[in-house]
Amino acid sequence: MTLGYGVMVTLQILVLSFLVRVRVPQQKIAKSLKSTWRFLVTNLKQLRNMETTLVLLKPSCVQRQLIGEVVNRFERRGLRISGMKMMQLSDEILREHYSHLVDKPFFPGLCASMQASPVVAMAISGVEAVQVVRTMAGVTNGRQAAPGTIRGDYSVSNQQNIVHASDSVENAAIEVKRFFKPEEIFDYQSGAFAYIYGNGECK
Ligand code: UDP
Ligand code: MG
Repeated sequence: MTLGYGVMVTLQILVLSFLVRVRVPQQKIAKSLKSTWRFLVTNLKQLRNMETTLVLLKPSCVQRQLIGEVVNRFERRGLRISGMKMMQLSDEILREHYSHLVDKPFFPGLCASMQASPVVAMAISGVEAVQVVRTMAGVTNGRQAAPGTIRGDYSVSNQQNIVHASDSVENAAIEVKRFFKPEEIFDYQSGAFAYIYGNGECK
């Protein structure tokens, strides 16, 4: 929590206790409480930079026996694995997950490729993890992905491109919920935490 945030919370509390003291009508106090609550929720969300993103190791990764290699990259980077499981994807979950692509001509082929074998679903956490993981994945088309990225190192296809990675903080939250039950996500601190992030870097 930053100093600024602490100051704002203290100010809000002072205003509230002042309103109670000067016997402001309950309705007004309730209104003030509501805005304080909204303020807390919005700002806490914005101030936290520890994020959890969804990664799917696609059948192109599983079938080519690259699971260990790709998982190793995330671990070596200093990211934390918060959830991990193997699953066979249903038509239903794919239609939801790729809802932005259902009208594309390649959608049936995409579904077939995603159902060719089980996938490994991972919830990966870290400071600004959504952007970090997306950059590690590289651009969609493996032929154009930069060397050093997962797609750029292991794929030469626009479809068989090894991994899915959430593309925004909002989508990451939705996608992690889509693939994991709350009890399948583990919130623990890595033993090397102090050597992964500098002082105050993780809010
Ligand atoms: N895809 C495809 N043909 C295309 C574009 C995308 O088969 O022309 C597949 C590809 O596997 C990609 C997935 O659809 O990873 C989702 O597409 P999106 O545009 O969301 O790309 P991503 O976020 O995976 O980079
Ligand atoms: Mg996408």
